[in-house]
Amino acid sequence: MENVSSYTNKNQAPDMSNLTFSSPDLSSFCQLNNLGLVATGQHLCAERAVIECRFTKAPEPCPKCGAAGVSRGTVDRHLAHTPYGQRPTTLLLRIRRWRCICGCFWHEDTSSAAPPRSKLSYGAMRWALATIVLDDLSISRIANHLGVAWHTVNSAILKEGKRLLFNDPKRFDGVTVLGVDEHVWRHTRRGDKYVTIVVDLTPVRNKTGPSRLLAVLEGRSKQAFKQWLNNRPKAWRDQIESIAMDGFTGFKSAAQEALPQAQTVLDPFHVVRWASNMLDECRRRVQQDTLGRRGRKNDPLYKSRRTLLTRISNGPTEAVNGRLEHLRGTALGFRNLTNYIVRCLLKSGGFRNQLYP
Ligand SMILES: [Zn+2]
Repeated sequence: MENVSSYTNKNQAPDMSNLTFSSPDLSSFCQLNNLGLVATGQHLCAERAVIECRFTKAPEPCPKCGAAGVSRGTVDRHLAHTPYGQRPTTLLLRIRRWRCICGCFWHEDTSSAAPPRSKLSYGAMRWALATIVLDDLSISRIANHLGVAWHTVNSAILKEGKRLLFNDPKRFDGVTVLGVDEHVWRHTRRGDKYVTIVVDLTPVRNKTGPSRLLAVLEGRSKQAFKQWLNNRPKAWRDQIESIAMDGFTGFKSAAQEALPQAQTVLDPFHVVRWASNMLDECRRRVQQDTLGRRGRKNDPLYKSRRTLLTRISNGPTEAVNGRLEHLRGTALGFRNLTNYIVRCLLKSGGFRNQLYP
């Protein structure tokens, strides 16, 4: 028999010797109680699981006169739910209908399970959002798992991402150091398309964590950045101590006008890259002057090039840029800027802790 205590890595089987067990219960396993539902039946096949359920709340009285209604049976609504295992899980809601003596017809309010007209349950929306942020899965893979169309997932993620994460007023709390950079989001035949990325560098300065993406703005212009800054509350602007940026003068004058108290500093990454490029040029000139040939690996000047270049560490703003490049790879390129911006924020906005309990 295998010795359980010999497992050492963190994916080891948990210690189950002290667990207590309740009766198996599909409703709690599928977290239907969070949706105000209880499971009443199941249909399982290789391709999908269908869970029949009803609402647990008391019958609703007539919305007009308040009298109790006479039951008129049920109507069905399908919701894609959190997938369990490798097959899509569908909730089949049996929604009660009533008729009143006053002539009124109505049916149960379903808003505890899903938004109006949604094809996804709240559980599915939450699962999709967590999966895209934590597991880097593509929208089409998520759509496969849920058994719904790509657009259904994409618009749900846009909506839930905005509601749960981007609109969270605490998202901008505690920012004292900003970074701003430009980023090519799409290479086109007519020229590259740029966005401006705004990054919170406070955790990097305080050595408490990685940088996080605050905003992606269309274009790269002084106006875009200045307007974004001016849309922030004054109290927030006042607490910004410094802004790191590259050499684009538009960003600098936007910062000076919107945040006069903040110090603008050259982004360490760009400064070092510039410095090393200049030094490299200088080195090449000196090399040619003194030896009349290109550098070889044992020449002292060539060795110093190595030293100079290795100083280029991943700047934090640049690190965000790198993560966005990877995102473009998993999504096989983006054509829609709104989608791109949402996905960028989900990936680099520092939401992992919020979604991972
Ligand atoms: Zn009535």
